[in-house]
Amino acid sequence: MSMAGELVVEKIENGTVIDHIPAGMGMKVLSILKVAAGSKIALLMNVTSKRLGSKDILKISEKQLDEKEVNRIALVAPNATLNIIKNGSVVEKSVVCLPHELHGVARCPNPKCITNSERIETRFAQEEKNKFRCYYCEMLFDTNELSL
Ligand SMILES: [Zn+2]
Repeated sequence: MSMAGELVVEKIENGTVIDHIPAGMGMKVLSILKVAAGSKIALLMNVTSKRLGSKDILKISEKQLDEKEVNRIALVAPNATLNIIKNGSVVEKSVVCLPHELHGVARCPNPKCITNSERIETRFAQEEKNKFRCYYCEMLFDTNELSL
C-alpha cells in the first residue's frame, strides 16, 4: 500500500536506473541517451535526496549504457550513480566518472575548430580537474561547456 501523495513508479525488471542526477538535469540526461522503441522510461524530477537536497532519477527498461553514454552522463551529472537491474534486482552499482580522454563524446565549443567543419571524431584530454583541452584547436574548456 502506498501512502497518500506518494509518487509510485512501476519497477523495472531489466534495465538501468540512473540515480543522483542533479535536480533539473534529468531531461538533459535522457536527451543524450539512445533509447530503443518500446523501452519503458520513467523520469522522476525533484525527488528528495539526503545527499543532494533534491535530485532527478531516470529509469529505462531494457537499456544498457555504452561507454560513450556513460561519459556523456558524467559530463552533465558528475555524481550520478548507475544501477544495472536484472530480473528485478540490482546486480551492479557504480558511480560515473570522467576518463582522462574523451573520444567522440562531446562537440568542441570553438566554432572555428576543424572538428566542427569536417567529419572528425572529437578528442579532448583532461588537464586539470574538470578542464579538458581539445586535441585539434588546443583550446581549454570547462566540463560544463562540453556538455551537449
Ligand atoms: Zn577544438
